[in-house]
Amino acid sequence: MTAGGEPTDAERLLRDATAMLDGHFQLTSGKHSSLYIEKFRLLEQPAQTEALCRMIADWARPFLPELIAGPTTGGIIISYEVARLLRVRSIFAEQLNGGGRAFQRGFMIAPGERVLVVDDVLTTGGSVREVLAAVRDMGGDIVGVAVLVDRTGGTADFGVPFFACMTVDLPSYQAGQCPLCAKNVPLTIT
Ligand SMILES: [Zn+2]
Repeated sequence: MTAGGEPTDAERLLRDATAMLDGHFQLTSGKHSSLYIEKFRLLEQPAQTEALCRMIADWARPFLPELIAGPTTGGIIISYEVARLLRVRSIFAEQLNGGGRAFQRGFMIAPGERVLVVDDVLTTGGSVREVLAAVRDMGGDIVGVAVLVDRTGGTADFGVPFFACMTVDLPSYQAGQCPLCAKNVPLTIT
């Protein structure tokens, strides 16, 4: 199921919020998986979200971040909650029409300011990479990256210290090669 076998505290929090479901799902990518994570079932629950963000804050504290930054949409909530726990500022990067992300709305990063980049669920890492680029563009010093759930199976590498509250290592399948389809398990379209 998940890395490590026994459910972790993070997995329990996600399941309590019904943000993690077992079954047979068609993901937005079109691929099929036996596990579905609906991050907004978690993010609408302040208690569970705070508990997970506290894991990130506790991990990040020794790096002395001065600013937390995340991508829209879920990353705004994670950034704000981690920042609230660490008593530092929180900003977010928005998608640009031409690709990439930038800090708008007057958000500033001081040269050399120590920035922790956060996000909710890491799938391809594209959003996090865009935030890292936006931070570097403004002269920030990235002290680490932290996410609630790492769906890459632990292969994420951003070249800075990295933390995930939970790592999931579950394959997804093209529809024609899905073992759950082969067993005629009813499919849920997500
Ligand atoms: Zn299938």
